Amino acid sequence: MERGSHALSFACGTLLGAGATGALLYALRRNSQSDTKCCVSTSSTQAKDTSSVPREAPSVSDHAPSKPSKPSDIPDDAPEDCPGVDSNAAGKASTCAGCPNQKLCASGEAKKPDPAVADVKDRLSGVKRKILVLSGKGGVGKSTVSAQLSFGFAAKNMDVGLLDVDICGPSVPRMLGLHGQDVHQSSEGWSPVYVDDHLAVMSIGFMLPNQDDAIIWRGPRKNGLIKQFLTDVNWGPLDVLLMDTPPGTSDEHLSIVTYLQDSALDGAVIVTTPQEVSLMDVRKEINFCRKVKLPIIGVVENMSGFVCPSCAHETQIFAPSTGGAEQMCRQMDVPFLGRIPMDGRVASAGDSGVPLGALQPDGPVSKCIDVVIKAILKETDSKS
Ligand code: ADP
Repeated sequence: MERGSHALSFACGTLLGAGATGALLYALRRNSQSDTKCCVSTSSTQAKDTSSVPREAPSVSDHAPSKPSKPSDIPDDAPEDCPGVDSNAAGKASTCAGCPNQKLCASGEAKKPDPAVADVKDRLSGVKRKILVLSGKGGVGKSTVSAQLSFGFAAKNMDVGLLDVDICGPSVPRMLGLHGQDVHQSSEGWSPVYVDDHLAVMSIGFMLPNQDDAIIWRGPRKNGLIKQFLTDVNWGPLDVLLMDTPPGTSDEHLSIVTYLQDSALDGAVIVTTPQEVSLMDVRKEINFCRKVKLPIIGVVENMSGFVCPSCAHETQIFAPSTGGAEQMCRQMDVPFLGRIPMDGRVASAGDSGVPLGALQPDGPVSKCIDVVIKAILKETDSKS
């Protein structure tokens, strides 16, 4: 393995690097043809798909981990009681004897910053606002909110990028009306897929020849793709880059925060429903953000009440039994950005890949989304 790959694995705990663009595209296409549909099992003796692989494509299986990911700064192939690369005992402790990384740790090389951090900074230098969209739980509407916020920013003539980092559940292509589109490569890198002049999108969903393929990847492989999304996508100048992440606090979040550490990341927008079961996880998400020093732009309460279209009676389907997101924000001292009601047209807009305004021009839910957009701009602009 190259030195750069080693540094990456140490910098982000479970990262091992995942090769070049071509290897990923190749692996995705190859897997779609195999019965197993498990990318981790891809053979290392593949031929190169030179039509879509302009660069040297290393073996995909070289980067597959042999064990489940470990948290913190401990690489996957480290001994059980590894002191961690940041420790003064790294490479020198008795437990390090026989570890394949011992020399690297002892030399202090592993502590050096990953060169990808500078590449990401360079690549995103023309992006004014960089925002992660997080949720504690799946199904609370994080991708829906990301999609509708993107449409909303673009409707204000802002140049918007939406990066789908939800590697295993990429719903962004469908929600942006780009289902079945392809990513193209140029000498400048990967070109995002455009909804219109103002809205550019990148997702692993564009790289799957068969949309029903399962992406069964371990942490290092996912992190490798995230790195490529951050270093290789040619966004050009943008007013806002939204990054739709998977639910929870996992490898993907750690790696994206690590890669963006020098890129003036504005912070996180956290999406929740009003119910305590969702808020419980949001509190953890907020603590995660604080731990990794990720600023919190604020919290959006989605599916916040349902107004019956027949009788106009309002029902709290996900009842805010502990006061909902607004109260939690007060308690945890984070901004509350607004609430978006539950409405069948929001779901339909997602399925059809259109802005909500196309189904409900100037309707109450569109106005709620606009409130959230203004609150995000207020928060990000006040800190810039
Ligand atoms: P997540 O990204 O958090 O997993 P999704 O954005 O995929 O969640 O949304 C989950 C489901 O809820 C989808 O079917 C979506 O259409 C629906 N949904 C999200 N927000 C709303 C809303 N405000 N009103 C109605 N349906 C919604």
